Amino acid sequence: MQKRYPRLIVNLSKIESNAKTVLKACNAAGITVAGIMKGASALPEVVKTMADSGVAQIGSSRMEQLIAAHNLGVKQPLMLVRVPMLSEAEEVVKCVDISLQSDINVLRRFNEEALKQNKIHKVFIMMDLGDLREGFWDWEEATAAAVEVETKLSGLYLLGVAVNLGCYGSIVPTPEKEQELVDLAAKVEAAIGRKLDYVSGGASTSYMRVLDGNMPKGINHLRIGEQIILAHDAPVYWGYDTPQFHRDTFRIQAEVIEVRDKPSFPVGERFVDAFGNAVQYEDRGIRRRMLIALGKCDYGAYPEELDVLPEDEGIEILGASSDHTIIDIQDAKREYHVGDIIEFGLKYSTNVYLTNSPNVHVEYVRD
Ligand SMILES: *Cc1c(COP(=O)(O)O)cnc(C)c1O
Repeated sequence: MQKRYPRLIVNLSKIESNAKTVLKACNAAGITVAGIMKGASALPEVVKTMADSGVAQIGSSRMEQLIAAHNLGVKQPLMLVRVPMLSEAEEVVKCVDISLQSDINVLRRFNEEALKQNKIHKVFIMMDLGDLREGFWDWEEATAAAVEVETKLSGLYLLGVAVNLGCYGSIVPTPEKEQELVDLAAKVEAAIGRKLDYVSGGASTSYMRVLDGNMPKGINHLRIGEQIILAHDAPVYWGYDTPQFHRDTFRIQAEVIEVRDKPSFPVGERFVDAFGNAVQYEDRGIRRRMLIALGKCDYGAYPEELDVLPEDEGIEILGASSDHTIIDIQDAKREYHVGDIIEFGLKYSTNVYLTNSPNVHVEYVRD
């Protein structure tokens, strides 16, 4: 059969290796790891690879992905990491073992549902320590919710407290921030009269504390996706030297559909582009450029987020519409022809869209 493009090449051996590296470092620091699969949209082989690597739980923000993982026969407890919708209580309690929670009314609804289904549903109390996405803000309110779960909501089991950082508010998971969660956990433990199972200190951004060896004592759980599936942010955004991780886990291949010299400045009366944006163009005269059959429908709104690989240095992504990306190749190191395949590296933003696109053909490789 003819190969179809765009084609997403997923290297399962490298993902497995990244997972093992994360697990080894975290376990040595007394930290249990939940593997979070939403950055790869729960592609089945990625989920299986993550599960086989030995993470303690498998998590996602989306019920669709968790149900898919269940249907794949994943043995680990499943964990919903987006605070749930009231309307999905029945389904979450039915299909998922653990959820992160930030609203007392949702907790009460989950309790009713668990009692009705004759189950014990496990919950984390989510604390907002400044990133300003989900979580209780007031410590008294969070502690009161924990006490209510512990003493009144017998269909629920309070597994621990959790925080998320570095998502909306760009807040760094410093040792001081992590310590705040440890302090909150101590307060909750004093109020309920027992130890919590888990104090969950965040996502891949919190893995920097493991790399630095300065995670405060008491943080014993992390929820890690990006560092396993892409391992991009630690070296690229945070400046860590991480040769122990593979960054070429996901690659997107696209086919060249036009190569031609054209003006760099649009010709005619200008208004807005396909997405309604008034765009600035620079007149650099006639330039050689190519079109590839890959667009915003596939990788999201920002074509410049595609990572140009070293072999293609000198090309410049000019822009894109839904189905086309336009690339300046005037100063490219090599020649391009219609029918050629060009490959890009990926990061979280582009990967999350590409793995979600029905137009993208996935190929799994192992090496
Ligand atoms: C997405 C998410 C994670 C995992 O994030 P990564 O950056 O992929 O490690 C963990 N916790 C919560 C609450 C999330 O929403």
